Amino acid sequence: MDKPVIGLTASHDLKTDDLRMGHFYMDALRHNGAIPVILPLTLDEEEAGQLAESLDGFLFSGGPDIHPFLFGEETLMGCGDFSPLRDSSELLLLSQVYERKKPVLGICRGAQLLNIALGGDIYQDIFSQIPARSPIAHRQPFNAAHPAHRVALESGSRLAAISESLSLEVNSLHHQAIRNAAPCLKVCGRSSDGIIEAVEQPDHPFLIGIQWHPEQLAGKYPHADRLFSAFIKACSRCGQISSS
Ligand code: MN
Repeated sequence: MDKPVIGLTASHDLKTDDLRMGHFYMDALRHNGAIPVILPLTLDEEEAGQLAESLDGFLFSGGPDIHPFLFGEETLMGCGDFSPLRDSSELLLLSQVYERKKPVLGICRGAQLLNIALGGDIYQDIFSQIPARSPIAHRQPFNAAHPAHRVALESGSRLAAISESLSLEVNSLHHQAIRNAAPCLKVCGRSSDGIIEAVEQPDHPFLIGIQWHPEQLAGKYPHADRLFSAFIKACSRCGQISSS
């Protein structure tokens, strides 16, 4: 059986305007049985539709902040830099992918993007917007290869079943986070300070957004590989349906 081919959204180097991709996402996808392809930073609607049709699944990767106009807000001082190219091409692609019910994994920025695209919103900066929060370092002070805090998963959620656990040790490299989950999404994981760390759409073939970076934990933390492996399995089922 052919391996599923998974579209991976690229990083945008805002200083040089170049497309970039570190090895972690590609390694994690390859080691768990998929072929990753890096997607362009610019896409029109027709191209996004064609990609959504022909690839087996999509990983929306981490990256810079999302422009606040996209979720109906003015920019606050705590907001960071953004990539106009990524905001527009990823939203275009996601709407085409969602229409076709192809499997989607959103990581960090990718989870926030899913939530915004489906009608939710995010905190532009959790540190200034939720000052009373217990002070977990969502921007961890050490290498992302090591977990920094725990996420409690909702019992009965798809993510809990995939992870085979209700408590995950995760890394944390974010200052934004989902505020109000989109109506179709269910919150399925939170850190102990109440921050939403995982969402999923229960009636979708596979749509999960997580705030941590499993690609940097893969190979060492079984829950990270279980997630990639479940995503890739869903992509291979989807590929079989669309080619039959
Ligand atoms: Mn976190």
